Amino acid sequence: MSAVVKPTEQTVDDWLLDPSLAPLAADDPLAPLYRATNRGELALPFCAACAQTLDLDQEICDNCGSTESTWRTVELRGTVHTATLMHRCEPGLVRTQHPYPIVDVELASGHRLIMTTTLPMSTTPAIGSAVHIGFRRLGDVAIPAIDTLEDE
Ligand SMILES: [Zn+2]
Repeated sequence: MSAVVKPTEQTVDDWLLDPSLAPLAADDPLAPLYRATNRGELALPFCAACAQTLDLDQEICDNCGSTESTWRTVELRGTVHTATLMHRCEPGLVRTQHPYPIVDVELASGHRLIMTTTLPMSTTPAIGSAVHIGFRRLGDVAIPAIDTLEDE
């Protein structure tokens, strides 16, 4: 069974956060990520020497010790590794009044990325569910988020 949670309009305000919380794309260390997400793609870091996947903020490769990284486009799919339901009341910054899922997704590339969903959901996806990655719009920045869930 699959549930598509796709916004009808790409430019709709984010359901979760106030646009003032959008990352500053220009000098942000994650600028390569946000350049890709604004094209509707996901780019993540790999070691330039041995092609090992790197965490977003990882500066030294665990495998070979190289400090050179390269950002490459990866597939927009993965599986749910862990999921938790966040209850957060922070009027002004957090828009939703309801609990929302925080999901650690293991991407097909091998990267792990923590995200929520493109539209509000008050439940957590099952561990191991296949997901397709879409994007939330926060100000001028597109943020990766689960847009389709495929329950096992
Ligand atoms: Zn390496």
